[in-house]
Amino acid sequence: MIKLFYEDSYISEFSARVERCTKADDGYLVTLSQTAFFPTAGGQECDSGTIDNEEVLSVICENDEIYHLVKNPIEEGKTVTGKLHFEERFRKMQHHSAEHIVSGLAFSRFSLVNTGFHLGKDDVTIDYGAEITEEQLCELENLANEVVYKNLEISASYPKADELENINYRSKKEILGRIRIVTIPGVDVCACCAPHVKHTGEIGIIKFTDMMRHRGGVRIRMICGKDALLDYCQKQKSVAQISRMLSAPQNEVFGAVLKLSEQISDQKRKNAQLLNELALYEIKSIPKTEENFIVFSAVCDRNVQRMIVNEAKKRVGGVFALLSGDDENGYSYIITANNGVSESVNKLNAALSGKGGGRGDTAEGHFYTARKKIEEEFKIL
Ligand SMILES: [Zn+2]
Repeated sequence: MIKLFYEDSYISEFSARVERCTKADDGYLVTLSQTAFFPTAGGQECDSGTIDNEEVLSVICENDEIYHLVKNPIEEGKTVTGKLHFEERFRKMQHHSAEHIVSGLAFSRFSLVNTGFHLGKDDVTIDYGAEITEEQLCELENLANEVVYKNLEISASYPKADELENINYRSKKEILGRIRIVTIPGVDVCACCAPHVKHTGEIGIIKFTDMMRHRGGVRIRMICGKDALLDYCQKQKSVAQISRMLSAPQNEVFGAVLKLSEQISDQKRKNAQLLNELALYEIKSIPKTEENFIVFSAVCDRNVQRMIVNEAKKRVGGVFALLSGDDENGYSYIITANNGVSESVNKLNAALSGKGGGRGDTAEGHFYTARKKIEEEFKIL
């Protein structure tokens, strides 16, 4: 079986003979005389595409043989056409080559050892065994993009065992047979089995979007090429919207948002102060009485309402009710009585389409009726 992706990583369509087609649990495993489909390997998900009209569901490599999983059987001996979703493959080539640049520079500049790499559909992460600062990450990003601008050639070779001994290369687990050395001159030499772009300029841009602590080191999120452009477009749109909303230049939106956030905090403090004053005003309006007493409160905050009720309990000997709401939506209530509240509340709930209750001297709930009706019912309690 010829691995076409090693001859030319840009092959997106090829002819091949079906060598074997065997039933598997979730479809049929097809082996071909040659293939351009790169399997799941080295932190990278497999290529997708079709063999004739059959969608390739996954590609795996076992004992140097490449198996293509398809839903329906394909006749053995038949000549078929394999087609890769090449945009997706090219994206992987861009990101994988970028990873080599970044990891090569991370090692030479900061002695960071690459401990993991994941190249998925939506997320690309690189792990390193030690931590670096935000400034060092920024420097690493700049150095990596300098390599992109230089448009260096990326080459692959298969040195013999004695030659390998004299090559200083970053080692990764080699899973597809012979040691394949991928070289970016002056930047990185690494054992790798994956397809790469021919020149670093094809990567377009290398952008880090996040860095977090991970297993004693760091995990860096990276986007390249079209992914980075799409990300830029999406973020630019957000910034433009915030800029218009806050009437601030686009490069000053953070300051504008910070100012807005401070204004909101300030407003919250003022609101709390006003609420407190309103509560004190309502408390003052409650007389010392042995009768029942009802207050329609302008305070909506439940905690402040409870504070008013606690003060009312010291003044009102009968049943005290604090209500807030309107005729359309009804009124939420807190009702208290020093000698027990449940009997009065049950009566009021029944008469005023109420829901709620409580134990001891306080009950909370809601009357789904108008203010006038509540006042009338309270009079005859
Ligand atoms: Zn690699």
